Amino acid sequence: LPPIDGDFYRLGEEALSEEDRALQLKVRAFLEAEVQPIVNQYWNKAEFPHEIIPRLAELNICGLTYQGYGCPGKSNLMEGILAMEMARVDTSISTFFGVQSGLAMGSIYLCGSEEQKEKWLPLMQQFKVIGAFGLTEPEVGSGAAGGLTATARREGDTWTLNGEKKWIGNATFADVTVIWARDLDDGQVKGFLVEKGAPGFAVEKMQNKMALRIVQNGLITMKDCRVSEKDRLQHANSFKDTAKVLRMTRAGVAWQAVGCARGAYENALHYTRTRKQFGKPIASFQMIQNHLVEMLSNLTAMQTLCFRLSQLQEQGLLLDEHASLAKVFCSLRTRDVVSRAREVMGGNGILLEYNVARFVADAEAIYSYEGTREINSLIVGRAITGFSAFV
Ligand code: FAD
Repeated sequence: LPPIDGDFYRLGEEALSEEDRALQLKVRAFLEAEVQPIVNQYWNKAEFPHEIIPRLAELNICGLTYQGYGCPGKSNLMEGILAMEMARVDTSISTFFGVQSGLAMGSIYLCGSEEQKEKWLPLMQQFKVIGAFGLTEPEVGSGAAGGLTATARREGDTWTLNGEKKWIGNATFADVTVIWARDLDDGQVKGFLVEKGAPGFAVEKMQNKMALRIVQNGLITMKDCRVSEKDRLQHANSFKDTAKVLRMTRAGVAWQAVGCARGAYENALHYTRTRKQFGKPIASFQMIQNHLVEMLSNLTAMQTLCFRLSQLQEQGLLLDEHASLAKVFCSLRTRDVVSRAREVMGGNGILLEYNVARFVADAEAIYSYEGTREINSLIVGRAITGFSAFV
Protein backbone atom coordinates (compact mmCIF):
# COMPACT_ATOMS: atom_id res chain seq x y z
CA LEU A 1 0.00 0.00 0.00
CA PRO A 2 1.17 3.59 -0.59
CA PRO A 3 2.71 5.40 2.40
CA ILE A 4 0.37 7.36 4.66
CA ASP A 5 1.41 10.99 4.35
CA GLY A 6 -0.81 14.06 4.81
CA ASP A 7 1.80 16.24 3.03
CA PHE A 8 0.31 15.53 -0.42
CA TYR A 9 2.02 18.43 -2.21
CA ARG A 10 5.40 17.54 -0.65
CA LEU A 11 5.96 20.88 1.06
CA GLY A 12 8.20 19.37 3.73
CA GLU A 13 10.51 17.77 1.20
CA GLU A 14 10.56 20.55 -1.38
CA ALA A 15 10.41 23.72 0.67
CA LEU A 16 12.87 23.02 3.46
CA SER A 17 16.65 22.95 3.38
CA GLU A 18 18.27 19.60 4.16
CA GLU A 19 19.10 20.83 7.65
CA ASP A 20 15.56 22.00 8.36
CA ARG A 21 14.03 18.83 6.92
CA ALA A 22 16.29 16.81 9.23
CA LEU A 23 15.09 18.90 12.18
CA GLN A 24 11.46 18.36 11.15
CA LEU A 25 12.00 14.59 11.07
CA LYS A 26 13.88 14.65 14.38
CA VAL A 27 10.99 16.48 16.07
CA ARG A 28 8.52 14.06 14.49
CA ALA A 29 10.51 11.06 15.71
CA PHE A 30 10.55 12.46 19.27
CA LEU A 31 6.80 13.09 19.20
CA GLU A 32 5.95 9.67 17.81
CA ALA A 33 8.27 7.80 20.18
CA GLU A 34 7.81 9.76 23.41
CA VAL A 35 4.60 11.76 23.24
CA GLN A 36 2.20 9.57 21.24
CA PRO A 37 2.36 6.60 23.67
CA ILE A 38 1.42 8.67 26.74
CA VAL A 39 -0.85 11.30 25.36
CA ASN A 40 -4.27 9.63 25.60
CA GLN A 41 -3.66 8.71 29.22
CA TYR A 42 -2.70 12.29 30.14
CA TRP A 43 -5.60 13.70 28.13
CA ASN A 44 -7.97 11.42 30.03
CA LYS A 45 -6.54 12.47 33.41
CA ALA A 46 -6.44 16.15 32.35
CA GLU A 47 -2.81 16.33 33.52
CA PHE A 48 0.35 17.65 31.91
CA PRO A 49 3.30 15.29 31.18
CA HIS A 50 6.07 17.36 32.79
CA GLU A 51 8.61 14.63 31.98
CA ILE A 52 8.67 15.67 28.31
CA ILE A 53 9.89 19.21 29.07
CA PRO A 54 13.65 18.38 29.30
CA ARG A 55 13.40 16.41 26.03
CA LEU A 56 11.65 19.33 24.33
CA ALA A 57 14.46 21.60 25.57
CA GLU A 58 17.08 19.30 24.03
CA LEU A 59 15.49 19.72 20.59
CA ASN A 60 16.43 23.42 20.74
CA ILE A 61 13.30 24.60 18.94
CA CYS A 62 11.83 27.06 21.43
CA GLY A 63 11.78 30.72 20.36
CA LEU A 64 12.70 29.30 16.97
CA THR A 65 12.58 32.50 14.90
CA TYR A 66 13.95 35.00 17.39
CA GLN A 67 17.41 36.47 16.82
CA GLY A 68 19.83 36.32 19.75
CA TYR A 69 19.15 35.42 23.41
CA GLY A 70 20.10 31.80 22.73
CA CYS A 71 17.32 31.40 20.16
CA PRO A 72 17.98 29.51 16.90
CA GLY A 73 16.93 32.34 14.51
CA LYS A 74 15.26 30.00 12.01
CA SER A 75 12.57 30.80 9.43
CA ASN A 76 8.88 31.42 10.04
CA LEU A 77 8.11 28.53 7.70
CA MET A 78 10.12 26.17 9.86
CA GLU A 79 8.32 27.43 12.95
CA GLY A 80 4.96 26.81 11.29
CA ILE A 81 5.95 23.35 10.14
CA LEU A 82 7.07 22.40 13.66
CA ALA A 83 3.78 23.72 15.12
CA MET A 84 2.03 21.46 12.62
CA GLU A 85 4.23 18.48 13.56
CA MET A 86 3.42 18.91 17.24
CA ALA A 87 -0.32 19.31 16.70
CA ARG A 88 -0.27 16.29 14.35
CA VAL A 89 0.58 14.14 17.37
CA ASP A 90 -1.12 16.19 20.06
CA THR A 91 -2.71 19.61 19.89
CA SER A 92 -2.36 20.18 23.65
CA ILE A 93 1.43 19.76 23.53
CA SER A 94 1.53 22.11 20.58
CA THR A 95 -0.57 24.62 22.56
CA PHE A 96 1.72 24.33 25.61
CA PHE A 97 4.65 25.02 23.28
CA GLY A 98 2.83 27.88 21.53
CA VAL A 99 2.11 29.61 24.84
CA GLN A 100 5.74 29.29 25.93
CA SER A 101 7.49 30.06 22.65
CA GLY A 102 4.92 32.39 21.06
CA LEU A 103 2.68 34.21 23.51
CA ALA A 104 4.95 34.45 26.55
CA MET A 105 8.41 34.71 24.95
CA GLY A 106 6.93 36.72 22.05
CA SER A 107 5.55 39.35 24.45
CA ILE A 108 9.02 39.78 25.96
CA TYR A 109 10.78 39.64 22.58
CA LEU A 110 8.46 42.19 20.95
CA CYS A 111 7.62 44.41 23.94
CA GLY A 112 10.43 43.93 26.47
CA SER A 113 13.49 46.08 27.18
CA GLU A 114 16.95 44.76 26.36
CA GLU A 115 17.45 43.95 30.04
CA GLN A 116 14.15 42.04 30.23
CA LYS A 117 14.99 40.06 27.09
CA GLU A 118 18.40 39.14 28.45
CA LYS A 119 16.96 38.13 31.79
CA TRP A 120 14.11 35.92 30.58
CA LEU A 121 14.52 34.71 27.00
CA PRO A 122 17.59 32.43 27.36
CA LEU A 123 16.01 30.69 30.37
CA MET A 124 12.65 30.35 28.63
CA GLN A 125 14.31 29.07 25.45
CA GLN A 126 15.71 26.23 27.57
CA PHE A 127 12.35 25.70 29.40
CA LYS A 128 14.15 26.52 32.66
CA VAL A 129 11.46 29.15 33.08
CA ILE A 130 7.90 28.39 31.97
CA GLY A 131 5.75 31.28 30.79
CA ALA A 132 2.05 32.11 30.47
CA PHE A 133 0.09 34.92 28.82
CA GLY A 134 -2.83 36.49 30.66
CA LEU A 135 -5.12 38.58 28.51
CA THR A 136 -8.65 37.06 28.66
CA GLU A 137 -10.87 37.72 31.66
CA PRO A 138 -14.01 35.99 32.96
CA GLU A 139 -16.19 38.74 31.51
CA VAL A 140 -13.94 39.92 28.67
CA GLY A 141 -12.94 37.61 25.81
CA SER A 142 -13.39 38.84 22.24
CA GLY A 143 -13.68 42.43 23.42
CA ALA A 144 -10.23 42.52 25.05
CA ALA A 145 -9.00 45.39 22.85
CA GLY A 146 -11.25 47.99 24.46
CA GLY A 147 -12.75 46.15 27.37
CA LEU A 148 -10.05 44.88 29.76
CA THR A 149 -11.12 45.42 33.35
CA ALA A 150 -7.92 44.28 35.15
CA THR A 151 -6.27 47.44 36.44
CA ALA A 152 -2.74 48.68 37.13
CA ARG A 153 -2.04 51.68 39.34
CA ARG A 154 1.42 53.22 39.63
CA GLU A 155 2.84 54.69 42.82
CA GLY A 156 6.52 55.59 42.53
CA ASP A 157 8.28 52.54 41.12
CA THR A 158 5.58 50.07 42.15
CA TRP A 159 2.48 49.01 40.25
CA THR A 160 -0.56 47.47 41.95
CA LEU A 161 -2.55 44.97 39.87
CA ASN A 162 -6.17 44.03 40.52
CA GLY A 163 -8.59 41.85 38.57
CA GLU A 164 -9.08 38.35 37.18
CA LYS A 165 -7.83 36.39 34.17
CA LYS A 166 -9.48 33.28 32.77
CA TRP A 167 -8.29 30.49 30.44
CA ILE A 168 -4.61 31.22 30.97
CA GLY A 169 -2.63 28.32 29.47
CA ASN A 170 0.29 26.94 31.56
CA ALA A 171 -0.70 29.31 34.38
CA THR A 172 -0.93 26.64 37.09
CA PHE A 173 2.80 25.91 36.88
CA ALA A 174 4.21 28.97 35.07
CA ASP A 175 7.23 30.70 36.64
CA VAL A 176 6.30 33.97 34.98
CA THR A 177 2.99 35.22 33.59
CA VAL A 178 2.58 38.18 31.27
CA ILE A 179 -0.42 40.06 32.64
CA TRP A 180 -2.18 42.63 30.49
CA ALA A 181 -3.97 45.31 32.52
CA ARG A 182 -5.31 48.82 32.05
CA ASP A 183 -3.28 51.69 33.49
CA LEU A 184 -5.70 53.71 35.63
CA ASP A 185 -3.81 56.92 34.79
CA ASP A 186 -3.71 56.95 30.99
CA GLY A 187 -6.33 54.24 30.28
CA GLN A 188 -3.91 52.25 28.08
CA VAL A 189 -3.24 48.50 28.24
CA LYS A 190 0.21 47.65 29.67
CA GLY A 191 2.03 44.34 30.12
CA PHE A 192 3.55 43.11 33.41
CA LEU A 193 5.82 40.17 34.21
CA VAL A 194 4.40 38.57 37.33
CA GLU A 195 6.45 35.85 38.98
CA LYS A 196 5.08 32.69 40.56
CA GLY A 197 4.20 33.19 44.22
CA ALA A 198 3.97 36.99 44.02
CA PRO A 199 1.84 38.19 46.98
CA GLY A 200 -1.75 38.82 45.90
CA PHE A 201 -1.40 36.58 42.81
CA ALA A 202 -3.44 33.34 42.99
CA VAL A 203 -3.99 30.68 40.31
CA GLU A 204 -6.70 28.03 40.30
CA LYS A 205 -6.79 25.19 37.77
CA MET A 206 -9.83 25.25 35.46
CA GLN A 207 -11.70 21.93 35.58
CA ASN A 208 -14.07 20.02 33.31
CA LYS A 209 -12.71 21.02 29.89
CA MET A 210 -13.82 18.77 27.04
CA ALA A 211 -10.96 19.87 24.76
CA LEU A 212 -7.18 20.30 25.10
CA ARG A 213 -7.43 18.53 28.44
CA ILE A 214 -3.64 18.29 28.79
CA VAL A 215 -3.26 22.07 28.69
CA GLN A 216 -3.46 23.44 32.23
CA ASN A 217 -5.64 26.53 32.00
CA GLY A 218 -5.76 28.78 35.04
CA LEU A 219 -8.15 31.23 36.58
CA ILE A 220 -5.97 34.00 38.01
CA THR A 221 -7.01 36.37 40.76
CA MET A 222 -4.96 39.48 41.49
CA LYS A 223 -5.66 41.31 44.74
CA ASP A 224 -3.35 44.27 45.29
CA CYS A 225 -0.58 42.33 43.58
CA ARG A 226 2.55 44.49 43.54
CA VAL A 227 4.93 44.53 40.58
CA SER A 228 7.99 46.66 40.22
CA GLU A 229 8.33 49.14 37.31
CA LYS A 230 11.33 47.13 36.10
CA ASP A 231 8.92 44.22 35.51
CA ARG A 232 6.59 46.24 33.31
CA LEU A 233 7.15 45.43 29.65
CA GLN A 234 8.92 48.60 28.68
CA HIS A 235 7.73 48.75 25.07
CA ALA A 236 4.08 47.77 25.61
CA ASN A 237 2.31 51.11 25.63
CA SER A 238 -1.17 50.25 24.35
CA PHE A 239 -3.25 47.33 23.05
CA LYS A 240 -1.59 47.88 19.64
CA ASP A 241 1.54 46.33 21.14
CA THR A 242 -0.42 43.36 22.52
CA ALA A 243 -1.89 42.93 19.02
CA LYS A 244 1.62 42.59 17.52
CA VAL A 245 2.11 39.48 19.64
CA LEU A 246 -1.30 38.08 18.62
CA ARG A 247 -0.62 38.64 14.92
CA MET A 248 2.46 36.46 15.18
CA THR A 249 0.84 33.75 17.28
CA ARG A 250 -2.34 33.59 15.16
CA ALA A 251 -0.19 32.50 12.23
CA GLY A 252 1.10 29.71 14.47
CA VAL A 253 -2.43 28.70 15.43
CA ALA A 254 -3.35 28.37 11.74
CA TRP A 255 -0.45 25.90 11.37
CA GLN A 256 -1.62 24.11 14.52
CA ALA A 257 -5.03 23.62 12.95
CA VAL A 258 -3.28 22.02 9.96
CA GLY A 259 -1.49 19.63 12.33
CA CYS A 260 -4.71 18.70 14.12
CA ALA A 261 -6.39 17.94 10.78
CA ARG A 262 -3.35 16.05 9.54
CA GLY A 263 -3.19 13.82 12.62
CA ALA A 264 -6.87 12.96 12.28
CA TYR A 265 -6.60 12.33 8.53
CA GLU A 266 -3.55 10.08 8.75
CA ASN A 267 -5.03 8.02 11.59
CA ALA A 268 -8.35 7.70 9.77
CA LEU A 269 -6.66 6.67 6.52
CA HIS A 270 -4.70 3.99 8.35
CA TYR A 271 -7.88 2.72 10.00
CA THR A 272 -9.89 2.53 6.78
CA ARG A 273 -7.17 0.49 5.10
CA THR A 274 -7.14 -2.08 7.89
CA ARG A 275 -10.79 -2.23 9.01
CA LYS A 276 -12.82 -4.76 7.00
CA GLN A 277 -16.59 -4.88 6.48
CA PHE A 278 -18.51 -6.96 3.91
CA GLY A 279 -15.23 -8.88 3.50
CA LYS A 280 -13.26 -5.88 2.19
CA PRO A 281 -11.21 -3.01 3.65
CA ILE A 282 -13.63 -0.11 4.14
CA ALA A 283 -11.10 2.10 2.24
CA SER A 284 -12.16 0.25 -0.92
CA PHE A 285 -15.71 1.67 -0.71
CA GLN A 286 -16.41 4.71 -2.89
CA MET A 287 -18.17 6.72 -0.16
CA ILE A 288 -15.27 6.22 2.24
CA GLN A 289 -12.80 7.28 -0.44
CA ASN A 290 -14.88 10.39 -1.01
CA HIS A 291 -14.55 11.32 2.68
CA LEU A 292 -10.79 10.70 2.56
CA VAL A 293 -10.35 12.87 -0.53
CA GLU A 294 -12.45 15.67 0.97
CA MET A 295 -10.20 15.52 4.05
CA LEU A 296 -7.04 15.57 1.98
CA SER A 297 -8.31 18.46 -0.18
CA ASN A 298 -9.01 20.57 2.87
CA LEU A 299 -5.72 19.61 4.45
CA THR A 300 -3.75 20.45 1.30
CA ALA A 301 -5.55 23.78 0.87
CA MET A 302 -4.72 24.67 4.49
CA GLN A 303 -1.10 23.63 4.16
CA THR A 304 -0.50 25.64 1.01
CA LEU A 305 -2.26 28.69 2.46
CA CYS A 306 -0.13 28.50 5.61
CA PHE A 307 2.95 28.06 3.49
CA ARG A 308 2.26 31.41 1.80
CA LEU A 309 1.34 32.96 5.17
CA SER A 310 4.80 32.07 6.49
CA GLN A 311 6.40 33.54 3.38
CA LEU A 312 4.54 36.83 4.00
CA GLN A 313 5.77 36.74 7.59
CA GLU A 314 9.32 36.11 6.43
CA GLN A 315 9.11 39.04 4.00
CA GLY A 316 7.81 41.36 6.76
CA LEU A 317 4.52 41.71 4.85
CA LEU A 318 2.21 39.94 7.28
CA LEU A 319 -0.83 42.03 8.26
CA ASP A 320 -3.42 41.27 10.95
CA GLU A 321 -5.96 40.35 8.28
CA HIS A 322 -3.59 37.82 6.67
CA ALA A 323 -3.11 35.99 9.96
CA SER A 324 -6.83 36.23 10.74
CA LEU A 325 -7.89 34.84 7.34
CA ALA A 326 -5.59 31.85 7.77
CA LYS A 327 -6.78 31.26 11.33
CA VAL A 328 -10.46 31.39 10.29
CA PHE A 329 -10.06 29.21 7.22
CA CYS A 330 -7.89 26.58 8.87
CA SER A 331 -9.86 26.25 12.09
CA LEU A 332 -13.11 25.96 10.11
CA ARG A 333 -11.73 23.39 7.65
CA THR A 334 -10.14 21.44 10.50
CA ARG A 335 -13.53 20.98 12.09
CA ASP A 336 -14.72 19.43 8.83
CA VAL A 337 -11.67 17.16 8.49
CA VAL A 338 -11.82 15.82 12.06
CA SER A 339 -15.54 15.14 11.86
CA ARG A 340 -15.09 13.14 8.63
CA ALA A 341 -12.16 11.29 10.22
CA ARG A 342 -14.39 10.39 13.12
CA GLU A 343 -17.20 9.38 10.72
CA VAL A 344 -15.16 6.88 8.68
CA MET A 345 -14.17 5.13 11.90
CA GLY A 346 -17.68 4.33 13.02
CA GLY A 347 -17.97 3.72 16.78
CA ASN A 348 -14.21 3.54 17.23
CA GLY A 349 -14.10 7.19 16.16
CA ILE A 350 -15.22 8.17 19.64
CA LEU A 351 -12.71 5.99 21.51
CA LEU A 352 -9.54 7.74 22.66
CA GLU A 353 -7.26 4.81 21.82
CA TYR A 354 -8.04 5.07 18.10
CA ASN A 355 -6.41 8.50 18.10
CA VAL A 356 -9.08 10.52 16.36
CA ALA A 357 -11.54 11.39 19.16
CA ARG A 358 -8.93 13.62 20.83
CA PHE A 359 -8.48 15.64 17.62
CA VAL A 360 -12.26 16.03 17.27
CA ALA A 361 -12.48 17.53 20.76
CA ASP A 362 -9.31 19.61 20.48
CA ALA A 363 -10.40 21.17 17.17
CA GLU A 364 -13.13 22.93 19.17
CA ALA A 365 -10.56 24.79 21.26
CA ILE A 366 -8.52 25.83 18.22
CA TYR A 367 -11.77 27.13 16.76
CA SER A 368 -12.30 29.52 19.69
CA TYR A 369 -8.94 30.62 21.00
CA GLU A 370 -6.70 33.40 19.63
CA GLY A 371 -9.81 35.05 18.24
CA THR A 372 -13.04 33.21 17.41
CA ARG A 373 -14.24 32.66 13.84
CA GLU A 374 -16.45 35.72 14.12
CA ILE A 375 -13.74 38.03 15.46
CA ASN A 376 -11.09 36.97 12.94
CA SER A 377 -13.70 37.25 10.15
CA LEU A 378 -14.49 40.79 11.29
CA ILE A 379 -10.79 41.68 11.15
CA VAL A 380 -10.69 40.50 7.52
CA GLY A 381 -14.07 42.13 6.84
CA ARG A 382 -12.78 45.47 8.09
CA ALA A 383 -9.70 45.20 5.89
CA ILE A 384 -11.60 44.42 2.68
CA THR A 385 -14.62 46.71 3.12
CA GLY A 386 -13.11 49.62 4.98
CA PHE A 387 -15.93 49.38 7.57
CA SER A 388 -15.41 48.16 11.12
CA ALA A 389 -18.30 45.97 12.28
CA PHE A 390 -16.97 45.55 15.83
CA VAL A 391 -18.99 48.35 17.39
P1 FAD B 1 -16.83 35.63 23.90
O1 FAD B 1 -15.98 36.78 23.56
O2 FAD B 1 -17.78 35.76 25.04
O3 FAD B 1 -17.65 35.24 22.58
C1 FAD B 1 -18.82 34.38 22.59
C2 FAD B 1 -19.34 34.34 21.16
O4 FAD B 1 -19.74 35.66 20.74
C3 FAD B 1 -18.30 33.87 20.15
O5 FAD B 1 -18.91 33.09 19.17
C4 FAD B 1 -17.80 35.18 19.54
O6 FAD B 1 -17.25 35.02 18.25
C5 FAD B 1 -19.09 35.98 19.51
N1 FAD B 1 -18.84 37.43 19.44
C6 FAD B 1 -18.26 38.24 20.37
N2 FAD B 1 -18.19 39.49 19.91
C7 FAD B 1 -18.73 39.51 18.68
C8 FAD B 1 -18.96 40.50 17.67
N3 FAD B 1 -18.57 41.80 17.84
N4 FAD B 1 -19.56 40.14 16.54
C9 FAD B 1 -19.94 38.84 16.33
N5 FAD B 1 -19.76 37.86 17.22
C10 FAD B 1 -19.15 38.18 18.38
N6 FAD B 1 -6.66 33.62 26.72
C11 FAD B 1 -5.49 34.13 27.22
O7 FAD B 1 -5.40 35.33 27.49
N7 FAD B 1 -4.41 33.32 27.41
C12 FAD B 1 -4.43 32.00 27.13
O8 FAD B 1 -3.43 31.30 27.32
C13 FAD B 1 -5.64 31.44 26.62
N8 FAD B 1 -5.73 30.09 26.36
C14 FAD B 1 -6.93 29.55 25.99
C15 FAD B 1 -7.05 28.17 25.86
C16 FAD B 1 -8.27 27.60 25.56
C17 FAD B 1 -8.42 26.12 25.49
C18 FAD B 1 -9.40 28.43 25.32
C19 FAD B 1 -10.75 27.86 24.97
C20 FAD B 1 -9.28 29.79 25.43
C21 FAD B 1 -8.06 30.38 25.77
N9 FAD B 1 -7.94 31.76 25.94
C22 FAD B 1 -6.76 32.29 26.43
C23 FAD B 1 -9.10 32.63 25.78
C24 FAD B 1 -9.55 32.83 24.34
O9 FAD B 1 -8.67 33.69 23.68
C25 FAD B 1 -11.01 33.28 24.36
O10 FAD B 1 -11.79 32.16 24.66
C26 FAD B 1 -11.45 33.91 23.05
O11 FAD B 1 -10.84 35.13 22.84
C27 FAD B 1 -12.98 34.10 23.01
O12 FAD B 1 -13.43 34.76 24.13
P2 FAD B 1 -14.64 34.15 24.99
O13 FAD B 1 -14.41 32.70 25.16
O14 FAD B 1 -14.78 34.98 26.22
O15 FAD B 1 -15.94 34.30 24.10
